[in-house]
Amino acid sequence: MAQITPLHEKIKTPGPTDWLAKHEEPGQTFEEYLKCKPILPDKKRNIIYVSILGDISEDERELILKTVEFIEIYFNLPVKMAREITLEEIPETHRRKSPVDGTLQISTEYIMNEILKKELPKDASVYTAITKIGLWPGEDGWNFVHGMASLYERVAINTFNGYGKAKENGKINNNFFLRILKTSTHEIGHMFSIQHCIKYQCNMCGSNHINETDQKPLWLCPECMAKVCWLTRTIPKDRYKKLMGFCQKYGLTEEYQFYKKSFDTL
Ligand SMILES: [Zn+2]
Ligand SMILES: [Zn+2]
Repeated sequence: MAQITPLHEKIKTPGPTDWLAKHEEPGQTFEEYLKCKPILPDKKRNIIYVSILGDISEDERELILKTVEFIEIYFNLPVKMAREITLEEIPETHRRKSPVDGTLQISTEYIMNEILKKELPKDASVYTAITKIGLWPGEDGWNFVHGMASLYERVAINTFNGYGKAKENGKINNNFFLRILKTSTHEIGHMFSIQHCIKYQCNMCGSNHINETDQKPLWLCPECMAKVCWLTRTIPKDRYKKLMGFCQKYGLTEEYQFYKKSFDTL
């Protein structure tokens, strides 16, 4: 990975409200990752399951399906849609009004432990849900979270609440699209036991608010990319090529150029 390292920006000093200013993180080197007994896909459990939770619009559904297409490339694993989960399945006791704006939030803890874990398909490597409804971890001290994942229990959830419109005038809203791509793949990375990145500007960096999500790239730093390629038995150059194809197809120009530069450098 040494060749591509110069293409990557070192992590910025966190601003006062940024993730690393609020959370102490140990980081995780590639060697530490290998030693942590990470969750890995295997022959029996190689499918990433994705469920949609709650009502969504047709435009949002379209972009979730494109996100699924991206997840397949990002992790080099097949993705299947699981059954859809309705809001009615979340009891009142695991819902609340956001302390910030009063909108509905549902508990990630409930969804992960009481729904996803109990329905984990036999051939699932991991199982994640995507929702438009706001999320909080189910305990005090949090205003909201974009997503939550278990490092060892193979379940996660993320929300696109507050990400804006999926499409504008019939065209994909790139802000929305990049946000949902980043958060969905970030949480899936956690399910394969990858911890937050504290070295580079990287999609595995923690995010405390939407500006921080916007500032971090869609791509992974050399160290996190090495983890993903190792765990999914992927050749980095093949992965870059497929990521280039996706970004070109959907007009993600900056991301396409970065992946191309990485491809050309390797
Ligand atoms: Zn995270
Ligand atoms: Zn990283």
